[in-house]
Amino acid sequence: AAKQLGRNRYHYFTQAMQKSTQKRMRLTNELRGAQEAGQLRLYYQPIIELANNSIHKAEALIRWQHPTRGQISPAEFIPIAEETGLINSIGEWVFHEAVKQASHWRATYHSEFQISINKSPVQFRDDTLKYAAWPDQLKEIGLSGQSIVVEITEGMLMDASDLITSKLLAFRDAGVQVALDDFGTGYSSLSYLKKFDIDYLKIDQSFTRNLSPTSADMALCEAIIVMAHKLGIKVIAEGVETIEQRDLLIAADCDYAQGYLFSRPVPPDEFERLLTES
Ligand code: C2E
Ligand code: MG
Ligand code: MG
Ligand code: MG
Repeated sequence: AAKQLGRNRYHYFTQAMQKSTQKRMRLTNELRGAQEAGQLRLYYQPIIELANNSIHKAEALIRWQHPTRGQISPAEFIPIAEETGLINSIGEWVFHEAVKQASHWRATYHSEFQISINKSPVQFRDDTLKYAAWPDQLKEIGLSGQSIVVEITEGMLMDASDLITSKLLAFRDAGVQVALDDFGTGYSSLSYLKKFDIDYLKIDQSFTRNLSPTSADMALCEAIIVMAHKLGIKVIAEGVETIEQRDLLIAADCDYAQGYLFSRPVPPDEFERLLTES
C-alpha cells in the first residue's frame, strides 16, 4: 500500500509540474505580444516626504492587463521576461512611459517631481548601447535626468562588473539618481554604500512590518537611517501600512515612506487625484 501511495504521489507531483510548465509556456508566448497589444500598464505608488506629508515622488510599478486572466503581477511575469530577453524592450517602454509621465507631472504639479523605475540585474547585463542613449533621449523631451531614479538591488552591486559600474556612472552623468531597493534582504555589504554613489536607500518591507518601539527591527531601522544620513543618503521606508509604523519612522528621522497606508499603486489618473488632494 505504501508503494501504491508513493506512486500516486509521484503521479500527482509530475502532473502539477507539467501544469505549471504549460502555464509558463503559455504566459511566455502571450507576453511576447502583450507589449505590442498595449496590455502593459505603469501604475504609480506615491512616496511621501514625512517631514511635510507632501508627494513629489512616485515609484512606477508595471502591471500586465491580460485580456482573459485579469491583472498579472510583475512577480509572476518579470522573471519570464528576464529569461526570454523580453525584459529589454519592456524596460525601454517603462523608461519612456516614466519619463513622459514625469515630464507631465513636473509641468503640472511639482517642478522637481521624480519617478523611480525598477531595473533587474539582467537589464544591466545586456543593452549596453541603449543606456548610452538615455541622456540624448532625455534631452529630446527637454528633461533632465533628475526626473528619474533607477532602483537597483543589492544583488546587482554584488556581482558588480566593470560593465555595471560603468553603466551606473553613465546614469550619474545623465543626472539620473540611484536608489538601493529592498535594502537588508540581499547579501548586503556596507562597503557597497561607500563604493557606489547611492542617493536613496529603501528599507525593505520585511523590516517595517514588525516595527514596535522595542522590536529588533526598530533598532535596525534606526541604525540604517543614522548610517545612511552620515553617508549623505536619503532613506525611504517601504511597505508602511499603519499609522504606528509611520510615527515610529518619523521618530527615527526617516525621510520618506511608501505603502498601503498612503496608497496602493494606482493608474496615472487616480494618482493625479492623490496629488490634487494632498
Ligand atoms: P519592489 O520594487 O520592491 O516594489 C515594491 C512592491 O511592494 C510592489 O509590488 C508594491 O505594490 C508592494 N507594496 C507597496 N506598498 C506595500 C505595502 O504597504 N504592503 C505590501 N504588502 N506591499 C506593498 P509589485 O508592484 O507587485 O512589484 C513587485 C516587484 O516586481 C517589485 O518590487 C519589483 O522588483 C518588480 N517590478 C515591478 N515593476 C517592474 C519593472 O517595471 N521592471 C522591473 N525590472 N521590475 C519591476
Ligand atoms: Mg522598487
Ligand atoms: Mg522594494
Ligand atoms: Mg521587491
